[in-house]
Amino acid sequence: MHAVVVEAPDRLAVTQVPDPAPASGGVVIAVRACGICGTDLHLVAGDLGADRLPLIPGHEPYGEVVAVGAEVGGYAVGDLVAVDPSLHCGRCVPCRRGQGNMCLRWGAIGATRPGAWAQFTAVPEANLYRLPESFPLEAAPLAEPVACAVRGLHRLNPRPDEPAIVFGAGTMGLILAIMLDLRGVGPVTVVDVNPARRELAERLTGARACDPEEAAHLRAPWVIEATGSPRAFAQALDSVARAGHLLVFGVASPQATATVSPYRIYADELTIVGSMAILNSFPPAIDVIRRHAARLAPLITDGFGLDRIEDALALVRSGRTVKTVLTPEAGR
Ligand SMILES: [Zn+2]
Ligand SMILES: [Zn+2]
Repeated sequence: MHAVVVEAPDRLAVTQVPDPAPASGGVVIAVRACGICGTDLHLVAGDLGADRLPLIPGHEPYGEVVAVGAEVGGYAVGDLVAVDPSLHCGRCVPCRRGQGNMCLRWGAIGATRPGAWAQFTAVPEANLYRLPESFPLEAAPLAEPVACAVRGLHRLNPRPDEPAIVFGAGTMGLILAIMLDLRGVGPVTVVDVNPARRELAERLTGARACDPEEAAHLRAPWVIEATGSPRAFAQALDSVARAGHLLVFGVASPQATATVSPYRIYADELTIVGSMAILNSFPPAIDVIRRHAARLAPLITDGFGLDRIEDALALVRSGRTVKTVLTPEAGR
């Protein structure tokens, strides 16, 4: 099959590799589409450790089951599925407490084992979610990012009819802005330094968009940091109204630090929560997409065949796209 392989930091090849075979308890899917996200850029650059390479990235696939391994009960060839990439060991203390996203041996398809920037990918049955008949497939590549957003909003637990601010108009910022609106939280303001992203945010989410300077005096009880930038984190924290809540959703560099005022957290009774990936949030995400595809599908702005991976990555880096997907069937 054709696959994109990260051979070394910043060295990609679109190459022929052996077709995967289904493991016992797993299936092989023909990948219809797989998103590219910020984590993938870090993986390609080698930021997540060169010891993971060579690797086929891709952790946001949906596709069709084409081979079924032994011991698989619930799926058959021809089923359409979305894939939760999370790999939880099920045995460590966090897993046994029901906190699999804190697994001591946490891994993910497309991050710690071969992923879906390929024509086919092998997936454990436990990671599959059936896409019901009449599912709006044009929005199916959003299952994984929406599942992350569902987890984030579960952690924040915002109240309806109260204002919210989202820092970052990337894919996740826009998904979060739409999902806040769907929950009746608002008005929602999206803050981003990039004018092209602000324009996309206003057009696709209905939220107001502004640059960080304009946002300097905004305050809201519900604030989401979705950039990963320590500077945006500092402003996001400043933007939390008294007795308000901040969700730290963006992925900062592990080395990044920021200054906070302990007094203010005390005196203003602030609540700061984090949200890491996905936990029990795939089924609700699939249902959110099923019910609200008309609002979510337009976030998939660009698609490329595997051969055009370099063009696709350049577009993602430029910020002139919301969600770019690879469509392995469309082009070799
Ligand atoms: Zn992702
Ligand atoms: Zn575990």
